[in-house]
Amino acid sequence: MIPPRGRHFFANPGPTNIPDSILLATAHASIDFNDPSFFTVYEAGRAGLKRVLRQENGELFLYTASGHGAWDATLSNLFSPGDRLLMIESGYFSETWAAMAARLGLVIETVAADWRHGVEIAAVEKALRADSRGQIRAICAVHNETATGLSLPLPAIRAAIDAARHPALFLVDTISSLGSFEFRMSEWGVDAVVGGSQKGLMLPAGMSFTAVSERAFAAHKESRLPHGYFDWSMMLARPHKSFMGTVPVTFFYGLRESLRLIEEEGLENVFARHHRLARGVRAAVKAWSGNRGPELFCTNPDRASDSVSAILMPEGFDAETVRTIARERFNVSLGGGLGPLMGKVFRIGHLGDLNEAMVMGTLAAVDMSLSRAGIPHGGGALEAAMAAFGD
Ligand SMILES: *Cc1c(COP(=O)(O)O)cnc(C)c1O
Repeated sequence: MIPPRGRHFFANPGPTNIPDSILLATAHASIDFNDPSFFTVYEAGRAGLKRVLRQENGELFLYTASGHGAWDATLSNLFSPGDRLLMIESGYFSETWAAMAARLGLVIETVAADWRHGVEIAAVEKALRADSRGQIRAICAVHNETATGLSLPLPAIRAAIDAARHPALFLVDTISSLGSFEFRMSEWGVDAVVGGSQKGLMLPAGMSFTAVSERAFAAHKESRLPHGYFDWSMMLARPHKSFMGTVPVTFFYGLRESLRLIEEEGLENVFARHHRLARGVRAAVKAWSGNRGPELFCTNPDRASDSVSAILMPEGFDAETVRTIARERFNVSLGGGLGPLMGKVFRIGHLGDLNEAMVMGTLAAVDMSLSRAGIPHGGGALEAAMAAFGD
């Protein structure tokens, strides 16, 4: 195989492209994490993250761990053995989060959902009303199911919890939505938010966090699950109010630049850009779906994700073939199918540091890969994407 030349096009839905200015910012020499000059950068980073989260009160705990670590931290700090959780089914990530909770000794109830259409909000309210003794301790939702390309209307879920007058905590995974489309922790009454560094925040993988409401922090005080590395009370007693041991200082130089980029563009403009790029990708997929070609996995236009699209192969064709050709022949990396969707879908990440030209490059590579793989598909995808971007 001839070694690839030119820039590696990275179209995975996480990790995402790291802007050059962030890469340069993270190239920082070691510094004592108690050094006052680092502390200024650290505190500014925490304050900026709270602005992106729209967190108005409560605590923010950060960890040297990928998103899975933040899941673990959040569950173990909030609950006691045998506590009941209501998980809204969305796909691979809701299932693996639930499985982790079960391993920790929690009891999981699921609001079942069609992965392609998304949960019925009425079913969430029904499950809460059925729990008339209020035994469910928390309801868990993955804001953006990265495996399927569907998002959840969190304000509608909050309204369902309120309509059922249920006291459960509201836990949300925003790992692939934060900094890509709208999220408002305090206004939407979210009690614990799990986020990660390597998606919308455009940083390397390895740092994650939980934003915690005052109500959730009170629940933490009552929790009886063992927490070792991730003990919030112990973290709060430290000068950094987060982390055990060494603080990963380079992340905070990167985060300073990430926040500068996000706030220079403006969160609303960041969201508008993600929506515009997503519209282009969806228009291309719609064109491919002609001639019995691959189609959007999401069948519910109201839930189509602005940060990732999963594309379902026609029966009898393997999505991995498309990914392999894209990678080997065109130096373009696409996301694969997760869990039961392995081989059935490939995914295009359209979140983070991206523009129309980069998305067009990816779409063109996919189009050429579909042709080379002999997969039936409709024409005109690139023109459709360009038209859909709008002004
Ligand atoms: C990526 C992702 C995770 C897992 O995060 P890691 O950093 O890979 O551990 C969890 N939830 C969602 C929705 C994700 O997209």
